[in-house]
Amino acid sequence: MDLKVDGITELELQELKRNVFFTTLEQVKGWARSSSIYPVTFGLACCAIEMMGVGAAHYDLDRFGSFFRPSPRQSDCMIVSGTVTKKMAPILRRLYDQMPEPKWVIAMGSCATAGGPYVKSYSVVKGVDQIVPVDVYIPGCPPNPAALIYGVNKLKEKIKYEAKTGKKVI
Ligand code: SF4
Repeated sequence: MDLKVDGITELELQELKRNVFFTTLEQVKGWARSSSIYPVTFGLACCAIEMMGVGAAHYDLDRFGSFFRPSPRQSDCMIVSGTVTKKMAPILRRLYDQMPEPKWVIAMGSCATAGGPYVKSYSVVKGVDQIVPVDVYIPGCPPNPAALIYGVNKLKEKIKYEAKTGKKVI
C-alpha cells in the first residue's frame, strides 16, 4: 500500500517532481529565442560557401531550429560570412538596422573577425565589430560548417545565460 505523507503519496510526489518545474519568464523567453535562431540570408565571400553548406542536407542546420530567412525583418541573427569591404559596410549596417530586436551577430572567419588575409588592404574593414556589435567569433579561413554549427550553439548558450543571469556577456 502507498503511504501518504502530508496528504501526498510517494508515487504522486515522484510525478510532481517529474512534471512540475519553476522558472522565470525571462528564462522561458531565452529558451524560446535560443531554440529558434533565424539567420538572415546573405553572404560576402568564400566563407559564405561554407555557410551555404551548413544549410544543405549533410549538415542540416534546420535540425537545431535555425532556418535562413530571406528578409532581415524576419531574422534575429546576422552571420557575417566573408570579407567586409568599406564599400559594403554601410549596406551591411542597413541590413542590421532592419532586423528587429533582440538580434545577434556571428563573425564567421578571419576576414569578418579582423580583416583576414586582406588586413593590409586599403579597402577592407579590419573586423566587422567596427560596424555592428559581435556576439560570437568563429576563427578559420574558412571555418567549416561544423565550426559554424559550434558557433551557433555557443550563441544559444550565451542567449540562455544572459536570460538566466540578466548579465550582458561581451
Ligand atoms: S576568412 Fe578566408 S575563406 Fe573566409 S572570406 Fe576571408 S579569405 Fe575567404
